[in-house]
Amino acid sequence: MNRKALHKISYGLYVVTSRKKDGFNGQIANTVFQTTSEPATIAVSVNKQNFTHEFIQESNVFAVSVLSKNTPLKFIGHFGFKSGRDIDKFEGINYKVGRTGAPIVLDNAVAYLEAEVIKEVDAGTHTIFIGKVVDAEVLTDEGPMTYSYYHEVKRGIVPKAAPTYIKEEGKGGGKMAKYRCTVCGYTYDPGKGDPESGIPPGTSFEELPDDWVCPVCGATKDQIEKVE
Ligand code: FE
Repeated sequence: MNRKALHKISYGLYVVTSRKKDGFNGQIANTVFQTTSEPATIAVSVNKQNFTHEFIQESNVFAVSVLSKNTPLKFIGHFGFKSGRDIDKFEGINYKVGRTGAPIVLDNAVAYLEAEVIKEVDAGTHTIFIGKVVDAEVLTDEGPMTYSYYHEVKRGIVPKAAPTYIKEEGKGGGKMAKYRCTVCGYTYDPGKGDPESGIPPGTSFEELPDDWVCPVCGATKDQIEKVE
């Protein structure tokens, strides 16, 4: 069996949110899809260990914000690589409370859908929540982020199986290596720099300021390894 075939399946990138009593939480998910059109229903697969899972199970509602292709890495990292058990993910985030009482993230969203859970499917490590869409809105004309675009362009992931990686010419004519975050897999490519954090292309990893952090997950420099 070649598991790489699984990577040929297309997905988008979403913030899935829910409520629990007065609290809100949300997470990044790529597995959202429409299940039926009459009535309109959508499904999302959520890891049972995720905090958001508890929220959806308790309130039986969830909202999905469809992320724009231009969503900054930091925003995805905020919802994807941090846990609501440690931080309030909605602090500093533009959102509104929807018809179901679930929070709807508006930042970087091209559209949102709100749903009431009508069925839960136990899928082992994950639960698939199927929800009837009770409200939905298109927010902008921007294109949605696809999962492959996020991996290839935004995160610059070098596939582990890649036999070589492209070395960049440094300012002194030397080669500059790429570095990979051990926490989230983000790859720092000196040729691209980290424009979101004000790091221009052509900056070697060594030249990054000591307080530079992984733009995706916030890991510090010592958690980043050279790509051999
Ligand atoms: Fe990281």
